Amino acid sequence: METATIVTGTIFAAIAAYILCVILRTIWRVLIVITAPIRWLFQGIAWALGWRLRRGRRAYIGQDIKARVFAKHGANCVNCGSRERIELDHIIPLARGGQDIETNLIPVCRGCNARKGAC
Ligand SMILES: [Zn+2]
Repeated sequence: METATIVTGTIFAAIAAYILCVILRTIWRVLIVITAPIRWLFQGIAWALGWRLRRGRRAYIGQDIKARVFAKHGANCVNCGSRERIELDHIIPLARGGQDIETNLIPVCRGCNARKGAC
């Protein structure tokens, strides 16, 4: 009688543990499915922020550097002399190791910059 109680108790404990495990696993799976859109949202925000930061860092040229470039070359396009839509262009492109420094920048208009890019 004593042995039978122990065996039955053990079996019930094992079944209870298994059921608990299944319930927890189900809850976990449901949580993963429920939170998926939230995680996508956060991933999207993180991606967008990272994209903005990368873009911002790449496009950023300090105001003091801009002022020195314009002081050196004038505020006109060095190619055509236009004063319209002046941008700073890299003599050595960033992709080839050029830097955002005064000696690597010249003022060019958007038209010349676009044409140069097409060449
Ligand atoms: Zn120009």
